[in-house]
Amino acid sequence: MTKQYPYSPSTFGDLADDGYQLTVYCGPCQRQVAMDLAKFPRDQSYLNRRYTCAQCGRAGQGVLSPGNCVEYRR
Ligand SMILES: [Zn+2]
Repeated sequence: MTKQYPYSPSTFGDLADDGYQLTVYCGPCQRQVAMDLAKFPRDQSYLNRRYTCAQCGRAGQGVLSPGNCVEYRR
């Protein structure tokens, strides 16, 4: 499968394919949870997505870590 570059992922499917890791942090609980991208709808945009802490119900902060995007190593 070929993709055009520069390329920026916009859906959960894109992130999963590229090996990204999504971690959600909750400040009040000092909790961090690694999310399984495969469990999100593949065609849904991850932009503006809200994550709720299961412990306190507040909004968590989602942080993406790059995965195997070797194309960006220059
Ligand atoms: Zn919390």
